[in-house]
Amino acid sequence: MLDLFTIFSKGGIVLWCFQSTSQLFKPSVNALIRSVILQERTGVSAYEHDSLRLQYKLDNEFELVFVVAYQKILQLSYVDKFLNDIHLEFRDKFKNQLEKSQWFFDYGKFVGDYQNILMSAEQWGKQQAKMPKQMRTFDESAKSKKTVASMIERKDDKDDKKSGKSKKKAAVTLDENGTHVQENGNDQVNITNEDDIDSGENSLELNLKKLSQRITKKKIDKQKSPKTEKAGKKPRVWELGGTNKDLANLERTRDKPAEEGERIQANTALIGQMRGGIRDLEVESDSDEEEIEVVTQTKPEKKSGGGMFSVLKGLVSNKQLTSTDLDPVLEKMKDHLIAKNVASDISVSLCNSLRAKLEGKVLGTFESIASTVKTTLTDSLVQILSPKRRVDILRDAYEAKKEGRPYVMSFCGVNGVGKSTNLAKICFWLIENNFRVLIAACDTFRAGAVEQLRTHTRHLNALHPAEKHGNSTMVQLFEKGYGKDAAGIAMEAIRFAKESRIDIVLIDTAGRMQDNEPLMRALAKLIKVNQPDLVLFVGEALVGNEAVDQLVKFNRALEDFSNSATPRTIDGIVLTKFDTIDDKVGAAISMTYITGQPIVFVGTGQTYTDLKTLNAKAVVHALMK
Ligand code: GDP
Repeated sequence: MLDLFTIFSKGGIVLWCFQSTSQLFKPSVNALIRSVILQERTGVSAYEHDSLRLQYKLDNEFELVFVVAYQKILQLSYVDKFLNDIHLEFRDKFKNQLEKSQWFFDYGKFVGDYQNILMSAEQWGKQQAKMPKQMRTFDESAKSKKTVASMIERKDDKDDKKSGKSKKKAAVTLDENGTHVQENGNDQVNITNEDDIDSGENSLELNLKKLSQRITKKKIDKQKSPKTEKAGKKPRVWELGGTNKDLANLERTRDKPAEEGERIQANTALIGQMRGGIRDLEVESDSDEEEIEVVTQTKPEKKSGGGMFSVLKGLVSNKQLTSTDLDPVLEKMKDHLIAKNVASDISVSLCNSLRAKLEGKVLGTFESIASTVKTTLTDSLVQILSPKRRVDILRDAYEAKKEGRPYVMSFCGVNGVGKSTNLAKICFWLIENNFRVLIAACDTFRAGAVEQLRTHTRHLNALHPAEKHGNSTMVQLFEKGYGKDAAGIAMEAIRFAKESRIDIVLIDTAGRMQDNEPLMRALAKLIKVNQPDLVLFVGEALVGNEAVDQLVKFNRALEDFSNSATPRTIDGIVLTKFDTIDDKVGAAISMTYITGQPIVFVGTGQTYTDLKTLNAKAVVHALMK
C-alpha cells in the first residue's frame, strides 16, 4: 500500500498530494530532494529514509517530480509501472495547462485516474508475482550497462580520496526489480555539491528553493549560450518567491532572460497587489460613438459591432414607434443577447421590457433612433447589474472583529466551477489586508479536495510568512478528513476560529448538482446551522441558461430545506472564468437578473491576483458590441 503519492514542480509547487496516513513525510521528501534530486539523477529511482522507501520519476520537459513513498519492509513490485503510467496520464491530461505553466489544475478530474492507474498497477504486480521467476540475462543486468571507462579507477579519484575531499560514492544496489536503490544516510550518498545542499532534516523549503534556483541558473546559462539557443517558444520559468523561504510564488516570471536578482524581485511582485479594495474588471469595448457611427455606414457588416443596431437603418425618422417597427429590432436584439450567453428566457424578458419603454415614442433623426434604443437597453442592463445593496467584506469583517467573532463566508456551487481556486484567491486578498483566515475544508466528499486546500494554504503562507506578520500564521486549514458531516465541521471551525482569534472563516463546501436533493439538504443544513455572514454562489461565466438553472435551484433548495420561516439564501455571486469568455458576458446579466443579488467577485484567471469586482458599465459595453 502506498503511503504517499505527490507531484510537485521543480519550482516547488505541490500540484497533487495523496496521503493515506497521517505520518509526516516532509523530512523524507526533503531528504530525497537533498540527496537525490539535487544530484540530478535521472530516470526512475528509489531512495530509503527512516522506515520509508521513496521512488521518484522526473519529467524534464515540464520539470515535474513524481514521488511515491511506502514502508520499506513492503516489497511493492508495481511501483515503477505505477510511476510510469501515472506520469504519462498526468502529462496527457494536463498538457495544455503544463505548456502554459498554469499550476492550478482541476484536481477532481484526476482522482479517478489516480485510483484506476493504482489499481491496475497493483493487479499487474499480483500477476507478476504469480509468474515463475527467471534468471536475469546479462543484457538485462546493470553491469551490462556500465562502460569500460567507468570501471577504470582514475588517478584524480585516488588523490581526492587521499586528501579527504572525496566525493563519497553512493552505495547503489539493485533491488529485485532492477531499480537503483540508494542506501540511507548522508555519508553514503554521492554529494556532488556539498556546500550547496542544506543538510537540515526540515529544510524542505530551502532545498526546493535551491532546486528552483539551479533550474533557473541553467536556463539563464542556456539562453546566454548561442549554441544551445533554439528558435520558437521559450519555456516559462516558475520560481520561488524571493525572500520567502517557502514553496511557491504563483506569479509567472517574465519570459525574457534577466539577472537572477531581478527575477527574484519580479517574483515578489505578487505580494501587495491585492491590498485595499479589489479592482474593477476591465472589459475591452468600442466607444458609444463608434458603434453609432457603424450604424450609419453604408456597409455595416464589414465593421464589427454594427450588427445589432444596423437593423435600425430601416426605420424612418419623425414617426411614432409602433410594435411593428420594433419587432424586427427586438427579435434581432434577442438573438444578439442569446449569442452573448444571456439565458433565453431573460433575453425575452429584457426585450419585452424594452418594447414597453419604446412603443409610442416619437423619434427624430435616424441616429437618434439608434441611440434611443441603445441608451434604453444600456440603462436597463446597467440597472440590472448594479448591486441593490453593497457588499463590503473588509468593512464587515472589521465590524465582526470588533465584536470578537470571526466573519464567516461560505462558498457553494456545482463541481468544477472554481470554488476552491477562487476561495484561495479571496483568501489571498484577505491576508493581503492583514486578516487572519481559517479555511474550513467542508468538502468531505471529493477525494483530493482537502489536499487541494492544503496546497493553497501552504502557498498562501509562503507568500505571507508568519514572521512578516508578528509571527502569526496568516492562513490555517481546518480539516477533519472525508466522509464526515460538513455542517458539524463548519461549526467546529467557527468555534476554533473564535477561540484562536482568527478573523475570517472561509467554508469550502462540496460541489453538488442542483437537482441532487440529499446534497442540497446537507447544504441547507450547513447554512442554517452556521448562519454565515455571507453565502456566496460560485458559477461559471461560460454558461448561459445552465447558470440560471443552477442558481435558481440552489436558492430554492436553501429555502425549501431550511425548515425556517426566514431562510438564508444566496447573498452574492462569484462569477469565475471570466477570462475565457471573450465578450460573451451574458451569464453576468442572467445571474443578477434572476436573483437580484450582486456579483461580488469575478474570477479572471488562475493566479491569486486574478480576482476583480464587476464593472457594470464595462460589461454592458461588451454585451452591446
Ligand atoms: P471546484 O471543484 O469548484 O472547487 O473547482 P476548482 O477550484 O478545483 O477549479 C476547477 C478548474 O477551474 C481549475 O482548473 C481551476 O484552475 C480553474 N479555474 C478556477 N477559476 C478560474 C478562473 O477564474 N479562470 C480560469 N481560466 N480558470 C479558473
